[in-house]
Amino acid sequence: MTNILVMGGAGYIGSHTVRHLLDRGYGVVVADNLIYGHREAVDERAEFVHADLLDKYSLEKLFQNNHIDAVIHFAAFAYVGESVSEPEKYYFNNVVGTINLLNVMQMHKVGKIVFSSTCATYGEPQYTPIDESHPQCPINPYGRTKLMIEQIFADYERAYGLQHIALRYFNAAGCSSDGKLGESHSPETHLIPLVLKAITGERKNIKIFGTDYDTPDGTCIRDYIHVEDLAQAHRLAVEKAGVYNGCINLGTGIGTSVKEIISAAEEVSGKKCPVEYAPRRAGDPAKLFADNRRAKEILGWTPAYTDIRDIVKTAWNWEINRKY
Ligand code: UDP
Repeated sequence: MTNILVMGGAGYIGSHTVRHLLDRGYGVVVADNLIYGHREAVDERAEFVHADLLDKYSLEKLFQNNHIDAVIHFAAFAYVGESVSEPEKYYFNNVVGTINLLNVMQMHKVGKIVFSSTCATYGEPQYTPIDESHPQCPINPYGRTKLMIEQIFADYERAYGLQHIALRYFNAAGCSSDGKLGESHSPETHLIPLVLKAITGERKNIKIFGTDYDTPDGTCIRDYIHVEDLAQAHRLAVEKAGVYNGCINLGTGIGTSVKEIISAAEEVSGKKCPVEYAPRRAGDPAKLFADNRRAKEILGWTPAYTDIRDIVKTAWNWEINRKY
């Protein structure tokens, strides 16, 4: 059996990927420091180890005690605003933490890694859809940490033969179709869960950040990709890393505006969403959506969820029945 270590496997995308891997017959060890992750989100079939990337001793023990064939690495801090006010926390955890992980992998002759990167590595788009050759000029420390790690992988490949795929996600969205796993961030900053909380009354309203963008309805356009489609792409990337090393975008290729998300949520829930118009949020580009041809060609991946209402339906199902 192939054994995969999932670093950050108690988080949103990690926990969905763990379940997908187990369903496909992989052995899975989950390591998480549980700062943002949820122990309840870790599938019972996986082995769980409480470990932090910055604690090299616990990483070494983890590799000594478990046979690992490949690593999928989700463990990172991911709040853009916080990365601006506390960059040290981000460079330390995300960059130094990954170097620690690579070092311990090398000591134990584990040469394959699949990594959560992000479309935030591109920065302000020069054209859309964004392909992988688009210049990378991240506009915040969070995006820079992810770009640095991509660059470290390329150097480690040349020097040590590291096999690596960095998956650049667009906007991860939705929850597992059976309602068992979902999105639970504290604080929550993402559009879809905030819209749903405005509908349930948990929040007063949803603030639309900017209505004067150069888009058909004036609100920002993003590419929302279902978390189960992301999970599948990680498994395919583990199977392809080495044959291909490099970066791959993960998005649907379809752009959806903030107002379209709100309409989809109203349709799915059958309820009105209270809205407040607010100024633009700093650093938000008008339009971001993916050219996903590389994922199709290299991974043989196509997203199953392409209708935003189907994505929002899974998130709504979770929001009204959440387990954690
Ligand atoms: N957004 C919004 N109100 C909110 C949160 C987000 O209008 O309370 C908008 C934001 O400006 C962006 C889109 O929704 O255009 C998606 O934002 P999110 O924070 O979910 O993801 P991001 O694209 O920033 O990674």
